[in-house]
Amino acid sequence: MVFENITSTLNKVCDILELGQVERKVLLDFKRIKREKLEVEGKKYEAFRIVHNDSLGPGKGGIRYHPNVCEDEVKSLAFWMSIKNSLAGLPYGGAKGGVKVNPKDLLKEQIEKLSRAYVRAFHEVFGEDTDVPAPDVYTDSEIMGWMLDEYEKIKGEHRPGMITGKPLVLGGLEFRKDSTSKGGYVVFREMLSKLGKKKVTIAVQGFGNAGYNFAKFADRGGFKVVAVSDSKGGIYNKSGLDIDKVKEAKDKTRSVSKHEAKKITNEELLELNVDFLVLAAMENQVTKDNANKIKAKHILELANGPVTSEADRILHGKGTKVMPDILANAGGVIGSYFEWVQNKTGNIFEEDYLEKRLEKMMKENFQKVYDLHTRKKIDMRTAAYVIAVQRILEAEKARGNL
Ligand code: NAD
Repeated sequence: MVFENITSTLNKVCDILELGQVERKVLLDFKRIKREKLEVEGKKYEAFRIVHNDSLGPGKGGIRYHPNVCEDEVKSLAFWMSIKNSLAGLPYGGAKGGVKVNPKDLLKEQIEKLSRAYVRAFHEVFGEDTDVPAPDVYTDSEIMGWMLDEYEKIKGEHRPGMITGKPLVLGGLEFRKDSTSKGGYVVFREMLSKLGKKKVTIAVQGFGNAGYNFAKFADRGGFKVVAVSDSKGGIYNKSGLDIDKVKEAKDKTRSVSKHEAKKITNEELLELNVDFLVLAAMENQVTKDNANKIKAKHILELANGPVTSEADRILHGKGTKVMPDILANAGGVIGSYFEWVQNKTGNIFEEDYLEKRLEKMMKENFQKVYDLHTRKKIDMRTAAYVIAVQRILEAEKARGNL
């Protein structure tokens, strides 16, 4: 993701909202850009923590460990978190962090040292009311546990709300583990009710946390999941796959393709004649090269950025509805929010209460986006951005900054 792409989307939204230069400048400003060099066993690693806009609340966003991490990428992702958190109606601004490293080159002890070094470098900007990190690409709950421990050692007291996605025993939340798919499943059902349809076929690309859990909810809900795939290939059964059995095969053999069903390639999965295509693998899967071959009339983006902006235009032109990532996968950050509230208040919430809260929030967000999309005849992604930008500007106005 490059910052130039962000500015072009933002310009389009600003034109729709007829915003002036002052508002545009506020939206492109960054609250804090912090760069450090982390040293582990004599090697140096570039590290970043960036907060975009924090008018709605503390910065919120993950920390990624990846060789491609650079300032431009972290800025883009922080901006994107501002939009996602604003659309979700959360009391959060947008933030992101990262370390330029290939974690596969490091031993577990070195990853722990790197994670603790990251907190020592950035602890002054972290805090439950300033900037709250979480896991992202190649970081997980174990790493969040080490980071919390390092932070609490520096501060000399317990502060579990400074980070989310922690191990359960340190104040993490079981509910958060599949909250992304739970939220995506609400968006899927809301779209179905708009279509007035009860029976649809679904293909799911990616069978990890997001894709498997979505397929499981859809299968249990009585919908036909006819195809799934992972990085090693896909499978198809026009009568519907038994998702529990597919998961068993995946756990045993590390690939869905070992399950008894017709083998298909990932390209074939994307081009299947299904009602819903769920993208739950990675970015840039539908591009200008295959957008015209997509037959599904509805695409649900559980992954971040699986449809490129050129593909978006092509799909919109041929009437395919894309339920955008900032709406469809927001269940993840809503789950994080529940964890943060629990940590801040000392409450322990019942699972069914969180279930209802998530469902209500996702339904309301879907409805807002869908209404604007139909009223203004704009695609759902643009509608989602318009709503998110308006809420940020409203907060800036309420603060007297505009
Ligand atoms: P994961 O690593 O658990 O699963 C990814 C899956 O995609 C794996 O099954 C992998 O084999 C498959 N895959 C990789 N390349 C593929 C390809 N070319 N074709 C088909 N399958 C492929 O990751 P996840 O947590 O499920 O995340 C998936 C996406 O959803 C990412 O874009 C992530 O940023 C996004 N997301 C996840 C969450 C969450 O809470 N897990 C929240 C928000 C967004």
